[in-house]
Formats: sequence, structure tokens, C-alpha cells
Amino acid sequence: MPAKTVEDLLAILKQRDGHHPEFCQAVGEVIESLKVVFEQNAKYISVFEQLLEPERVIMFRVPWMNDKSEMCINRGFRIQYSSAIGPYKGGCRFHPSVNLSVLKFLGFEQILKNSLTTLPMGGGKGGSDFDPKGKTDREVMSFCQSFMTELQRHIGQFTDVPAGDIGVGGREIGYMFGQYKRLTNKFEGVLTGKKYNWGGSLIRPEATGYGAVYYLQEMMQDNQTEMKGKVVLVSGSGNVAQYACEKLIQLQAKCCSFSDSDGTIIEPEGFTVEGLAKIMDIKNNLRGRCQDYMNFSKTAKFYAGQRPWAVFEGHVDVIMPCATQNEVNGDEAKRVIAQGCKFVSEGANMPSNDDAIHAYHSSGVFYGPAKAANAGGVATSGLEMSQNSMRLQWSREKVDEELHNIMKKIFKQCKDTAEKYGKPKNYQFGANVAGFLKVADSMIDQGCV
Ligand code: GLU
Repeated sequence: MPAKTVEDLLAILKQRDGHHPEFCQAVGEVIESLKVVFEQNAKYISVFEQLLEPERVIMFRVPWMNDKSEMCINRGFRIQYSSAIGPYKGGCRFHPSVNLSVLKFLGFEQILKNSLTTLPMGGGKGGSDFDPKGKTDREVMSFCQSFMTELQRHIGQFTDVPAGDIGVGGREIGYMFGQYKRLTNKFEGVLTGKKYNWGGSLIRPEATGYGAVYYLQEMMQDNQTEMKGKVVLVSGSGNVAQYACEKLIQLQAKCCSFSDSDGTIIEPEGFTVEGLAKIMDIKNNLRGRCQDYMNFSKTAKFYAGQRPWAVFEGHVDVIMPCATQNEVNGDEAKRVIAQGCKFVSEGANMPSNDDAIHAYHSSGVFYGPAKAANAGGVATSGLEMSQNSMRLQWSREKVDEELHNIMKKIFKQCKDTAEKYGKPKNYQFGANVAGFLKVADSMIDQGCV
């Protein structure tokens, strides 16, 4: 029987995917927001039921040779979740924690995120449980080529356009692009996050971090708050965290932390431009750890195995979780709120768990949820696709301006939708509802497919 109520949807979700906790968490959060939409118009319940199931799930074996000439096997995935508003679009994650639950949650989030960007992109996600950490370039190349050897038959510029995510940056995109070209004999915009010389877009590396700060700026302006001098805790130390920090410094806020799986580094007065350059060199060129930064700073402190929200002492204005899912729990959220935190802008996907989100709302914290706040990355991927189609490349200024305008439009959709449904300032509600309605109406227009 088709679902008729919210309870039906939740029962189907639990029965079919109860063993996929991250997926249930991401979908459950959206269902909660959509309750009022379902009450006003029951047709959206059956549309949502369709969204409980990806259009296509591809799983495959990835055999590759390590430097000792041993054969290694990893599991590869691509979730082609929704093509309602455009070709499947979303990153690939290479990390040992990757499984079907994680990629389905990411694919589901990507549908609504891409919808909010205002660009014509459907939702997808992929990756592997391969761990690039500690691997040589040659091993990474061997893995990427094998991964693409299977993936290439499922993707294309009009079908599915993968990109990067955790563990997948310019190096991995390069090896995958090279292999795609060799196998298909096509130089096309099949991947985004490419380097500039071979079809990438300027500002794409910066886009997620810059975008999350632009979103924060919009939230602040909407609530009569100045960016200058604000204390911001950032987690992670990949490209999202790095460029969030860069933009925060440019706007005269104080970015006081970075972290990785080994621990957190706190710079009490904020990272300087030189300090950030050091972090970037350690992470991007030396492929080292946050802790290595201690050799360059007399003022920094390192906390092994800890996250920034658990260790920072003193006043906090903003947190920007830019590492991974479920990295802020209820106790950590309450801790930073007690330290003064008023704004959250999420650079990572689903970094706050349900308890943390509850703490934000019950304390009047302005909460910029991932699918809105970090959408600048995929939006700039969309701009890369446009440039590839036009066979030209825009200047930094032009791409940055487009990105900034898109982030403003995303914020406006969140704000206006929340107000329209009588939930002013609930940007999470606005993001879920606005993102969903565009996709849902498109699905209705296209019939039972
Ligand atoms: N992985 C990024 C995200 O979570 C970017 C995806 C893309 O550029 O396609 O949105």
C-alpha cells in the first residue's frame, strides 16, 4: 500500500533501511520539517515515498596493486539518487568508514542541496572504503584508475558528474579524469573539481569554505551582527576548513581551531595568514597532521584525540564544523552555547547530530544547516559544468561573484520559506522545505518514472 501518512513513511524507512543509521537520521530530519507541507498537501507524501529509494545503486569490486605488488580489493559505489532536476551530481568519498548507509545519506542530502543552488543538478554520491592515508601516489593512481574503469560505464556529462569529497581532491580527480579519457576517448566535463589547466574552474577549491562563510555573513546580517572580531571554531583541516579560515581572516573574524582524526589545534588569538599558509602546506603538500603545526607556533595548543568544541576555553561566537558527519553532539553543542555561541554554519555534511540541533533551536542559536551552508562547493561545480559546456573559463572575480550571489539566493530561499510557513529564522526548516518542493514538483511533472 502506498504511504498515506508521515507514520507510514517512517514505518517504510525503518522496515527497509533501519539498518542504515546515517541514512535514517538524514531522512528523518527532513520528514520532521516536511510535516506541515504534508498536512497542507497530501500528494507530497507519495512523492516523498519515492525519494526513500534511490533511482539506482551501483556497487562494484575495485582490484588494485599496491607497491609490494600485492593485489588489494576495495568496494566501490555510486548512488544515482535523483535525476528529477538534472543529471546526477555529487562527490566521491574515499574513506574506510564509507558504506551504503553513509553514501545514501550523502546522496539524499545532495538532492536537496543541489536543488537549493538554483542550478539544474540532480543528486548522487559515490566512493569507496579505500583509505588514501599513508598510500603512495602510485598506489592512489592504481586505485583511481581501477575505480574509474568500472565507474566510466555509468557516468557522463549528461548522465552523472562526480566530484571530490573527503579523501578525493585534485590529485584523485586527475587520475580518474585521465583514465576516463583513455577508456572513452572523450575529453568532456564528466568530473568537476578538475585542475584549471585541464578544464577546472577557478575558485572551485575555495568554494565550499568561502560559501559557508558567505552563508554565515547572511545569517549575521539578518540578525544585526557584525562579523569583525568574532571568535569562530572550525573543525577539520581539509579544503573546506582551510578556505573557511581564509575567508574568515579576510573578514576580520578570528578562526581559532583546526582538527583532524588525531586531535585539535587551538590558536587562542586566531590563525594569521602565515599560520594558515603553514597548515595548508602541512596538509596539502607534506600530507602531514595538524599536530605538526606545533613546531611553528609558540602560542598554539594541541589536544590529542579531541574535537574543538570539547576543549576551547573562553568566549565563542560561531562554530563551523567542517570535518565529517556527527562531529557535534548534544553535550558539545550545549558547551559552546554556554560559552556564548550564537551561530552555526555547517561546512561538512550532517556534522550536528539530532541532540545538537535540538540544543541550537532551544537556545535560539541561528543554525545554517549543511545542505544550505555548504552548497557553495557543488554550486561552483555547477559553474564548472557551465564553463565546460561553453568551452571557456571565467576569471576568479567572475566565479567568486557568481558563488556569492548563489549563497545569497540560497539564504533567501531558507529565510523566505521559513517565514512563509510561520517559522521565522528556522533556516533548517526553510532549507528542507524549499529544497524538497522544487524536486517534488519536478517529479510530479515528469510522471511515474
Ligand atoms: N562533495 C561536495 C558536497 O558534499 C561537492 C560535490 C560536487 O561538487 O559535486 O556537496
